[in-house]
Amino acid sequence: MNIVLLGPQGSGKGTQGKILSKHYDIPHISTGQLLRDIAATDTPLAHELQDILKRGDLVSDEILMEVLTERMQMDDCKKGVLLDGVPRTLSQAKLLEETLTLNGVIFMDITDDEAIFRASNRWHCPDCEALYNLQTHAPRRSGICDLCNATLVQREDDNPKSIHERLEHYHKETKPLVDFYRKKGLLIEVDGMQRVKIVYREILKKLQEHQPNTATVA
Ligand code: AMP
Repeated sequence: MNIVLLGPQGSGKGTQGKILSKHYDIPHISTGQLLRDIAATDTPLAHELQDILKRGDLVSDEILMEVLTERMQMDDCKKGVLLDGVPRTLSQAKLLEETLTLNGVIFMDITDDEAIFRASNRWHCPDCEALYNLQTHAPRRSGICDLCNATLVQREDDNPKSIHERLEHYHKETKPLVDFYRKKGLLIEVDGMQRVKIVYREILKKLQEHQPNTATVA
């Protein structure tokens, strides 16, 4: 079962990816996270990536596909994958087609205002990866993770300039993929403005309709 999670920043790809990964027992692969992990090391590639990530620009297809292919060759991907943040361009979608047969593309749509609001208020726990929104899902103690007491951090690219830059890339390069996958009969559209649990149930229901043998409603 190979699924792509598509949508702008803050649409819930990370949140739904984590829950769906448990449900289907397949890894949630976020290319943004893979790249951030490399950028945190001390190599020439890391230094190159740090600038690109901070600005909110796109990493080249060459680097991206190399990192992704290496990850997808790991043993835990044998049953399938949930891809988050890739493909982001038509050329990536075509490259991906050469290596992976997709079962569905879940498009979580939200408005630009909501994407900006969610990304601007997004903090996370660096230890247990719990996600928070300072306005709608704040931690009980300011700046401290409810689950493991670690100090919360904000992504470096969740600053106003990069948030707008990423949204521009999304509209110009990623949004056209909605039509691309619709024409292939792979698109599963979900209203990402709803609450996390409702989005999750809608995804499971629509996946079940799309792939009758693979999904069950929790
Ligand atoms: P994300 O965590 O998905 O918001 O990605 C964070 C950053 O990683 C993006 O702003 C890009 O700089 C880079 N990135 C992630 N996925 C891709 C991709 N598929 N193609 C190019 N750059 C990517």
